[in-house]
Amino acid sequence: MNPFLAAIMGTLLHLKRKCPKCKREQVVKASEKQKTVVCKFCGAKIPPKRIDQE
Ligand SMILES: [Zn+2]
Repeated sequence: MNPFLAAIMGTLLHLKRKCPKCKREQVVKASEKQKTVVCKFCGAKIPPKRIDQE
């Protein structure tokens, strides 16, 4: 895999956020990486911590 693609995929993985309420995953904007985002499925707030690794 070329390093450019690998970097993109790494970034996407890093931006993945799992909703604590509905458990669905979504990708947040890079600019919102450090922010609490609102789940686009159920509207719950998802903190920036990586909750998928509990
Ligand atoms: Zn949700």
